[in-house]
Amino acid sequence: MFYSRQPNPDWLPVSVLMESLRDHTGPFRVLVTGGSGLVGRAIQHVVKEEGAGKEGEEWIFLSSKDANLMTMEETQAAFRKHRPTHVIHLAAMVGGLFKNMRANLDFWRNNIHINDNVLQAAHEVGVVKVVSCLSTCIFPDKTNYPIDETMIHNGPPHQSNFGYSYAKRMLDVHNRAYFQQYGRCYTAVIPTNVFGPHDNFSIEDGHVLPGLIHKTYSAKKECKPLIVWGSGSPRRQFIYSLDLARLFLWVLREYHEVDPIILSVGEEDEVSIKEAAEAVAQALDFKGEVVYDTSKADGQFKKTASNSKLLRYLPNFTFTPFNQALKDTCEWFVANYDTARK
Ligand code: NAP
Ligand code: GDP
Repeated sequence: MFYSRQPNPDWLPVSVLMESLRDHTGPFRVLVTGGSGLVGRAIQHVVKEEGAGKEGEEWIFLSSKDANLMTMEETQAAFRKHRPTHVIHLAAMVGGLFKNMRANLDFWRNNIHINDNVLQAAHEVGVVKVVSCLSTCIFPDKTNYPIDETMIHNGPPHQSNFGYSYAKRMLDVHNRAYFQQYGRCYTAVIPTNVFGPHDNFSIEDGHVLPGLIHKTYSAKKECKPLIVWGSGSPRRQFIYSLDLARLFLWVLREYHEVDPIILSVGEEDEVSIKEAAEAVAQALDFKGEVVYDTSKADGQFKKTASNSKLLRYLPNFTFTPFNQALKDTCEWFVANYDTARK
């Protein structure tokens, strides 16, 4: 059979608890690659504004201006300069469905280079823990639902974003190999579609929610219809960047598996693109016509992910309600329209 529709029975769980990490008592110097992006800025907010950073911890947030992580020399120089003990690795070429469809080769090559450089540079300076970032859009296209952590490599991803997907899947291969050969606790989280302040609101390149927020804002200003791309029927789980940031801190401090973990709202919180567009229209008080442009691609129909593993660890974690998070994001976009990425 070309692909499996079941959770993988041969999956080798690397659930070994890293006692050395649990007992880590020395300096706690965290380097965040991609620290200037959507997720990086949310982690900055949670660490600095919500007081989640602990006394004695040092946090360094890198952008591509500090080091181009596609080159090994610049990556090694950054790691030698900061000598982190822990790394949250977010830096990546990122984009919505339509940017992926235009540039699968770039997504593959850029992300493969960045990930190989970052993990090797981390290993060379003795970083004890790296948390990297996969995505639920890297899972097999033909599968059964809900998808869980054991199914990453079970079959080809959706053809629209195969470059990004295979590059991200290889992070899991890196993590297993660094553990097997060197005992490193390098792990990964698997978030769903993320949104929030500081997102990329580019209509051509960004993900669906920032794209729809930008389009709705313009449609309202120009008294024109809102054009939603595709049929509106695909389904997505969305996670608010600040919720994801809080979960990242928990993973960094208290999740000790090499196996990745899905960070997602529940299956019941999945919404259609049509419902998402209506929620954006409501958040921005847009009362005009909504048109579906079915000449545009729908992409993968759904990627419904299970958050059972997360809830086993954190049964009481509360996600920000979707409509509240969307409203806050819209307000941020309107207030920061002139400087927002778009
Ligand atoms: P983002 O807003 O586009 O930010 C990307 C970050 O990576 C920026 O800080 C950028 O730096 C940095 N970067 C890109 N190329 C680089 C390079 N060559 N060298 C150094 N830094 C580079 O992306 P995001 O949405 O925060 O994504 C963060 C992580 O989450 C990524 O690994 C992504 O794959 C993953 N993820 C995202 C989503 C989502 O819906 N957004 C969903 C699942 C997983 P500059 O600011 O200097 O350009
Ligand atoms: P994905 O979740 O990885 O597939 O990527 P996106 O966040 O780009 O979501 C793509 C889905 O949203 C597809 O079903 C698109 O047809 C739909 N969509 C509707 N309007 C837009 C839009 O303005 N921008 C984007 N990126 N997608 C849109």
